[in-house]
Amino acid sequence: MMRTSLSVCKQVQPLVNFPGVPVLDMELFRRKNKVVIVMGATGTGKSRLAIDLATRFPAEIINSDKMQVYKGLDIVTNKVTEEECRGVPHHLLGTMDPDSNFTANDFCHHAFLAMESVTGRDRLPIIAGGSNSYIAAMVNQRAEFRMKYECCFLWVDVSLPVLHSFVSERVDRMVEAGLVDEVRKLFDSEADYSLGIRRAIGVPEMDKYLRIEATADKKTRARLLKVAIEKIKENTCLLACRQLQKIHRFQNKWEWNIHRLDATEVFRRRSRLEAEEAWEKLVVRPSDLIVDRFLYD
Ligand code: ATP
Repeated sequence: MMRTSLSVCKQVQPLVNFPGVPVLDMELFRRKNKVVIVMGATGTGKSRLAIDLATRFPAEIINSDKMQVYKGLDIVTNKVTEEECRGVPHHLLGTMDPDSNFTANDFCHHAFLAMESVTGRDRLPIIAGGSNSYIAAMVNQRAEFRMKYECCFLWVDVSLPVLHSFVSERVDRMVEAGLVDEVRKLFDSEADYSLGIRRAIGVPEMDKYLRIEATADKKTRARLLKVAIEKIKENTCLLACRQLQKIHRFQNKWEWNIHRLDATEVFRRRSRLEAEEAWEKLVVRPSDLIVDRFLYD
């Protein structure tokens, strides 16, 4: 069921509230808006969950994946397609110059503006993406964010061995979908891999292959392409491990109240239909309840 209004969720909350001291100055009162933050390692289904929620609540999505903010490399960075978006507006997705350096500060600035415009339309901002340093910068370092927003954290978790085999197969599907061609179009033998979209996993790994592909024999080309693909798989698995470590740190060291949704079973199901059912039961329905309580209780 799609909820049509968020207005009941805007509770008036005192900024300063000392016990026994009446707060008389209305200037001290502000409306605190709400934001949902969807986290998880690469491949777990964060983007999908954000879209599923946005079809149930009046919401718009703000991307927090540091590579998906750039224009281009849609296959390599695994951006959601227009069809997958199901009409849900997305912000900070494929909008930045791929040669620029989009920092955590830039993210905070742009994401905050997007949140203000989404809440201004009486909609719920859902921040979704894998770049935990962006989320940490927003939540820990921004007094204005903490003053104006209350967060509900959702974490889509998948057991690492299961996730590793899924992301490895996903790399094979990316190759079939045109990864090599996409990276070839961006290839520049003088390029700096520490800047902009060229930092994306899938770009530096292809460097050696793309340098020799025009001159090498077929066997050498095939060997170097295989090495590059294996390296992309390895680096994607390492990324998933690092992302998970950061979420554990948020939960254990910083004591963020993060709701964990275990999606492992979804990835173990054999048929597509079974996987869809498990996703709905194990991830979407519990998240729907959590968000409903967060907004309306
Ligand atoms: P770090 O501080 O290590 O950069 P982070 O939380 O800010 O961590 P991550 O999202 O974990 O950022 O990204 C780390 C690195 O992983 C990126 O610099 C990039 O190389 C790679 N990466 C992240 N997201 C993607 C993506 N969607 N596609 C390809 N590579 C990605």
